[in-house]
Amino acid sequence: MAHIIDGKAFAGRLRERIGAKVADLTARHGLKPGLAVVLVGEDPASQVYVRNKGEQTHAAGMHSVTHRLEASTTQADLLALVHSLNTDPAIHGILVQLPLPAHIDSNAVLAAIDPNKDVDGFHVVNAGRLAVGLPGLVPCTPLGCLMLLKDHLGSLKGKHAVVVGRSNIVGKPMAQLLLQADCTVTIAHSRTADLPALCRTADILVAAVGRPEMVKGDWVKPGAAVIDVGINRVPARDPAAAAAGKTRLVGDVAYDEAAAVAGAITPVPGGVGPMTIAVLLLNTLTAACRSHGLEAEL
Ligand code: NDP
Repeated sequence: MAHIIDGKAFAGRLRERIGAKVADLTARHGLKPGLAVVLVGEDPASQVYVRNKGEQTHAAGMHSVTHRLEASTTQADLLALVHSLNTDPAIHGILVQLPLPAHIDSNAVLAAIDPNKDVDGFHVVNAGRLAVGLPGLVPCTPLGCLMLLKDHLGSLKGKHAVVVGRSNIVGKPMAQLLLQADCTVTIAHSRTADLPALCRTADILVAAVGRPEMVKGDWVKPGAAVIDVGINRVPARDPAAAAAGKTRLVGDVAYDEAAAVAGAITPVPGGVGPMTIAVLLLNTLTAACRSHGLEAEL
């Protein structure tokens, strides 16, 4: 059976180290990293994410502000808030929770965030910095995946990594990070020919697709490291519970089958998911340190 990569435990240790660094920065430099999270509308999943982000930011000793705006908020009002946060010296990181209501152009809003405060790493300037290997702010989920892989495998040099999914927030930055770590990288997507055969060539297989349990056990090379980014809500196993509307979370990988073949695997929940907010805190810390010319290493 595969080694289970415990993202929850790793994220907990990372948050502790971040908290210690924040305490040191505050005591020695009077610098309290600040994160502003902006939520527009009442999407239930987004509300849970935003609440968790606020709580964990606070728990790490950071300054935490949450702006909750009506679903009817205009793009002009949202842009005005982003501009005011860009110039607020107490705020080092700005996160606008996606998805935004349909009447707002998400790209215009993301482009308005100061790239030095773009702790989601979605601004084109940060995507460009990642692509050319310059320091910037890197999207939280793929950076969290890379940390888990390095922690488990050590050097990733020369490994063949297959990333299934090419979104700007997960697949593409994941591929860039693996390339920087000296992997040979293949990016797969919905038009890839013979995806199972391609996946079977992967020493590192990252699934970021959004399709419940799509990656089967016989897609996995024996001994491979499997990182499951997917978060999919499906009906509960028990038919009566499912009929009552109960659900459970599954990843993009058929976990039991894959775990029987892989060398290591992240579970869902408890794998990649907890890393995302921990890396958001890390990015906020990094942005705060850089804004003051201080070393951001933990
Ligand atoms: P997107 O929908 O933006 O992208 C999905 C990608 O998967 C696309 O590139 C798409 O290809 C590809 N794809 C879809 N169907 C197939 C298929 N049948 N075969 C091969 N490739 C396919 O999703 P995200 O990248 O935003 O998210 C992916 C998953 O990760 C979701 O489950 C999401 O919930 C989860 N997620 C988890 C996070 C966490 O914190 N753990 C954070 C962010 C996302 P194409 O481009 O050709 O359409």
